[in-house]
Amino acid sequence: MSRGDMAKPLLGHRSTEGDPSITPAAGRTIGVLGSGDFARSLAIRLVCSGFKVVVGSRNPKRKASLFPSAAEVTFQAEAVKKTDVIFVAVFREHYSTLCDLADVLAGKILVDVSNNTEINHHKESNAEYLASLFPACTVVKGFNVVSAWTLQSGARDGNKQVLICSNSQEAKRTVAEIAQVMGFTPVDMGCMSSAREIENIPLRLLPAWKIPIFLALGLFLCFFTYNLIRQVIHPFIREQKNKLYKIPIEVVNTTLPCVSYVMLSLVYLPGVLAACSQLYYGTKYRRFPDWLDQWLQHRKQIGLLSFFCAALHAVYSLCLPMRRSHRYLLIETAVKQAMEKKMSIWVEEEVWRMEIYISVGIIALGLLSLLAITSLPSIANSLNWREFSFIQSTLGFIALVISTLHTLTYGWSRAFDENQYKFYLPPTYTLTLLVPCTVIIAKVIFSLPCIQHRLLRIRRGWEKGRYVKFVLPSATGEYSSGETSSNV
Ligand code: NAP
Repeated sequence: MSRGDMAKPLLGHRSTEGDPSITPAAGRTIGVLGSGDFARSLAIRLVCSGFKVVVGSRNPKRKASLFPSAAEVTFQAEAVKKTDVIFVAVFREHYSTLCDLADVLAGKILVDVSNNTEINHHKESNAEYLASLFPACTVVKGFNVVSAWTLQSGARDGNKQVLICSNSQEAKRTVAEIAQVMGFTPVDMGCMSSAREIENIPLRLLPAWKIPIFLALGLFLCFFTYNLIRQVIHPFIREQKNKLYKIPIEVVNTTLPCVSYVMLSLVYLPGVLAACSQLYYGTKYRRFPDWLDQWLQHRKQIGLLSFFCAALHAVYSLCLPMRRSHRYLLIETAVKQAMEKKMSIWVEEEVWRMEIYISVGIIALGLLSLLAITSLPSIANSLNWREFSFIQSTLGFIALVISTLHTLTYGWSRAFDENQYKFYLPPTYTLTLLVPCTVIIAKVIFSLPCIQHRLLRIRRGWEKGRYVKFVLPSATGEYSSGETSSNV
C-alpha cells in the first residue's frame, strides 16, 4: 500500500458535486447475490438507507415476493451487470457455482459476508477463497459480524460495528461509506490477511469470560463440597441425622457468598501483586508475568461474577423463611419452648448481630450493584477517568471492607466455639476471610505515606538505580556534562 493511500482517511469527506464519475453512496445501485435470510435483511436495510437494490437469484420469480417492492429481483447475471458493488450473501460451499458469472463480475467489488461453522475451519479465509475464484474482482470482507436480525431491526438495536478488510484501499472506502449510510460504524481491520480473524469473531463464545467462569465454578465446587461435609455428611455420620434436604437451598446459600466474597477480593489481589512487583523492582517498565497480565485483564468479569453470586445469595436468603423445613423447625422450637414454659427467647446479642449482619450485607450488595452498572460500556463511557477509577477502585475497595464486616458479623464469636469445628474443619467463613484480609492489610500498608509516595513516583516513571545525563554550568560559565542516579 502506498504512503499516499495510508494517509487517506477511510471515510474521506469527498464532495461529489460536479463530478459525474462519482456516485454518492446513498442513491447508488447495490447488488446482492442470494435470496436467503441475510440477503433479504440486507436488501431491506439498503432500501431503507436510500440505495437502489438489485437482487440476483437462481429463481427470481419464486423469491421476488420475499423482498421489498423497491428492490429489483432478477437472475444473477442480470443483477451483476447493473452494479459495481455486489454483496455475496451465499455460503462458501456454493461460491464455485458462481464461477459462470466470472466475466460479468470482472472489475467489480465483491463483499464477502460469509461466516464459518468452526473457528479456522478452512486453510484460507472465505474472502481469500472468493478472491482466488474471481481474480479479476476486488474482494472486501465485511458485514459478517452483524446478524440478519441486526440488519432488519436497524443499527440502533444491535451491534453497530462493521469490521472491514481488503487489499484495496479504494474498495474498502466504498464499502465503508455504504456501511456508514446504513447506520453502522465501519472499522478498518487492514488488509485481506485479517479476514480469517474477522471470520472467527462471530464464532468465539465469551472469550473474555472463560477463565473467570472456570474460576467461579472451581471455587463453587470447593466451597460446596466443604459445606456439604460440614452441614450434611457430619450430622449423618456423627448423629445419624438425615440433612439431605439442606442441599438445594441451605448448602448452596452458604456457598454463594463464599464464592462472591473471594471473587471480589480476587479483583483487587492482582493490583496488590502488581504494586509489590513495582516496589520490589523499583520500576513500572518491567513486564508483569503473563499470568498476572491475564489476571489484571479479567478483573471486570471476575467482579461481575462476584456481583452475580452476591445477588443470588440475597435472593436465596430472602426465600429461606418460605421453606417447609424452616416452618417445621420454627414450630418445633416454639412447642419445645412452651413445654419448657420459657416465656421469652429474646437474646439481645443475637438480635444485634443479625441487625448489623443484614444491614451491612445490603450496603455491600448496593455497592456491588453500582460497580457492576458502571462497568457496562455505555455507562463507563459517560464517566471521566477519575470518576471511573473512584467508583471501581475506591468504592470497590470499600465494598470489600463492608463485605468483610458482613462476614465477621455472620461469624461473630463462632470461630472460638469448638462445636463449630466439624471433623476438625474450621467454619467456612473463616477460610473465606484469608484472601480478602490479605488484600485489605496490603492496601492499608500501601497507603502509608512512605510507601504510597514511592509507589506514586514509580508510577510516574521514576526508576530505582537509573542513571540520567545531567548538564551543570562550570565556574567559568561553561557547561560540563556528567551522570547521576535519578533517585538521588
Ligand atoms: P440462506 O438463507 O441459506 O441463503 C443462502 C442463499 O444462497 C440462498 O437463498 C440462495 O439464493 C443462494 N445460493 C446461491 N447459490 C446457491 C447454491 N448453489 N446452493 C444453495 N444456495 C445458493 O443463508 P443466509 O443465512 O442468508 O446466509 C448467507 C450468507 O450470509 C452466508 O455466507 C452466511 O454465513 C452469511 N451471514 C449470515 C448471517 C445471518 O444472520 N443469517 C449473518 C452473517 C453472515 P437463490 O436460491 O436465490 O440463488
